[in-house]
Amino acid sequence: MELRFLGGATTVTGSRFLLKTSTARVLIDCGMFQGSPNESIRNRIPLGFDPEHLDAILVTHAHLDHCGLLPIAVREGFPGPIYATKGTIELAGLVLLDSGRLHEEFAKREARWERRHPEKAAEEDRQKAADYAAAVDLAAAGDTGEEAAADLEGVRAAPTLSSPPGEGGEHVPTTIEAAGGRATPDPEADLRAQPPELLIDLDKPLYTEDDAAAVLPLFRPVDYDAELEVAPGVHATFLDAGHILGSAMIRLRVEDAGVERFLVFSGDLGRPGTPIIRDPTTLVYADYVVVESTYGGREHEPQAEAIRILAETVRLVAEADGVLLVPSFAIGRTQEIVWELDRLIEKGEIPLIPLFLDSPMASKASDVYRRHMEYWDAETQQLLRTEGSPLDYPEQTITNNIHQSQAIERAQRPYMIVASNGMLTGGRVVGHLRNLIDDPGATLLFVGYQGEGTLGAHLQAGAKTVKLDGVVRQVRCRVRSISGFSAHADEPELLAWLRNFAVGKTAGEAGYPRRVFLVHGDPEAQLALEPKVRELGFDTYIPRWHEAVTLD
Ligand SMILES: [Zn+2]
Repeated sequence: MELRFLGGATTVTGSRFLLKTSTARVLIDCGMFQGSPNESIRNRIPLGFDPEHLDAILVTHAHLDHCGLLPIAVREGFPGPIYATKGTIELAGLVLLDSGRLHEEFAKREARWERRHPEKAAEEDRQKAADYAAAVDLAAAGDTGEEAAADLEGVRAAPTLSSPPGEGGEHVPTTIEAAGGRATPDPEADLRAQPPELLIDLDKPLYTEDDAAAVLPLFRPVDYDAELEVAPGVHATFLDAGHILGSAMIRLRVEDAGVERFLVFSGDLGRPGTPIIRDPTTLVYADYVVVESTYGGREHEPQAEAIRILAETVRLVAEADGVLLVPSFAIGRTQEIVWELDRLIEKGEIPLIPLFLDSPMASKASDVYRRHMEYWDAETQQLLRTEGSPLDYPEQTITNNIHQSQAIERAQRPYMIVASNGMLTGGRVVGHLRNLIDDPGATLLFVGYQGEGTLGAHLQAGAKTVKLDGVVRQVRCRVRSISGFSAHADEPELLAWLRNFAVGKTAGEAGYPRRVFLVHGDPEAQLALEPKVRELGFDTYIPRWHEAVTLD
């Protein structure tokens, strides 16, 4: 059997892994590349498999970097089924439709801008075409085994950090074949032979809302912990990953040519103790583990410290009759923050001041969270019995439209606003920031990761002036950050989860991983984590983008 790393390989986003056996083809996640233009251009590269001849897609969770390219797979002929938990299916429905809408809007805005600025647009198109060509080359390098992984250059200088060739994880060149042995040409070979702009219109929306809607009927719900045959010889079990509602790690029991192997895909691994949802599942038996590495080399601030800073900030805002603005990711973080604020009120640690929840997506996601009590942890189930509504803050106002959103600034102070998106790259939170950025009575509180180059990152780093709507604005509001709220395991938590696979066993025994693949992380994080995974006694490998590895 063979595993091909079509995304999430030396990048944090774009998770997509193709398992091929002699009888089946199964895709694990079909995620979108997000972040820098150089990474998001990878969404335009052909999928790397023939969607018509794929047996099934398994989706670990509803974040776009794990499910965001499903509309392309379906548009290009994937007939289904797509397996996921019920929670993931409902949340993925929200994010995919929203994503399709945003891609359409973005393409229209771009087209208008290009009409007004033809020369700049031509230059930008050349740059896009160059980025695209570079991405094709990089994918091709993974396909053919050439040492061209430009994104690892310099970082991955020491060859001893990865497995030497010939130990089972070596690169295996592949071609794309249709099921039934009908060979189809390698689409990337075609691409390389022609100028990219002839084949692909980089200005077209990546996909539309209609493309996204076509995905939804193909979902098939699965329960946690129940094994299910998803393709001939491929049996999948979804296990709680503790990352967001419905998130799963996936264990595959694969029978191929008389051999049985267990593959574990961590998906995004959550943290023990995260509110509302259950902790990540402990697994002890695998032949191969594909583990995320987002926070390799890093440790989160303890949760208790995060809650202490949150409480202190709310108290300060209340005493000063100020405004607290919390940019937050709509799915997971918003529900967690509201839950923590509700606990702080219950414990009498913060005064009861009004809270405005100003994110349509977060409101819909909260409804999904409320509907699926079967996914809640014991603590939240208990709170439901004693308190009634643990996912709601007592003085909350949910805005339903943009007028209500704009009316918030006329509310009597003090009050709090939680709005999307979490990195200030768009959404209603930007409107609030416009009103509050030069207001010394306002506090901006970051509760999540700020991507490099975003407005959020500049403000977090202490910028005194920022450009908003093309206008330079003074930063007079107070800016605070909490790093202890994270939906991802940090390095000690990743290692603790991996260590379970070695307990009571020695290398070579059944169930002791033959190899641990590090995925879903930047090269620096992966290289920081890799030696520590080796110290646990595991053989490791950091696959390149598009690389295929034989699992023997
Ligand atoms: Zn995620």
